[in-house]
Amino acid sequence: MKLKISGDKLTLASAHMLIKHDKCARLHGHNYEIEVEIEGDLDENNMVIDFGPFKTSVSSIIKELDHMVLLPENNSDLNIELDQKQYKVSTCDGKFYRFPKEDVVLVPLEATTVELLSKYLHDKLKGKYPQFNITVTMSETPTSIVSYTE
Ligand SMILES: [Zn+2]
Repeated sequence: MKLKISGDKLTLASAHMLIKHDKCARLHGHNYEIEVEIEGDLDENNMVIDFGPFKTSVSSIIKELDHMVLLPENNSDLNIELDQKQYKVSTCDGKFYRFPKEDVVLVPLEATTVELLSKYLHDKLKGKYPQFNITVTMSETPTSIVSYTE
């Protein structure tokens, strides 16, 4: 049986840039909206999972990225150095940024595209809920939507 959660608790505002992209190489942000669907067997209470604790758990994973600058630590076109309390970031096209350490999340990705971010959230949820088939749907605008499922 399938179960889906969405709504206010599953939103995320973050800043990022896509290196070498025409427009998106500039630092900018999105208000992401996320839906999570899981499929699994009914438990002894005739539920796939209890909605309330599940929403809280998914929300806590999403909120780790909320109001943060997302930097892809596996991107070879970015050089990221921690200098005391700041990240010094330089790009292959000669741009240079400094961010306070506490404003940054280094994500283990090659790029912070919505495609890879949805897979990243999927994989974190799968680690916590291995018994379910999980689909993460993530929109960066109302008309640009990605779904990732294993
Ligand atoms: Zn973007």
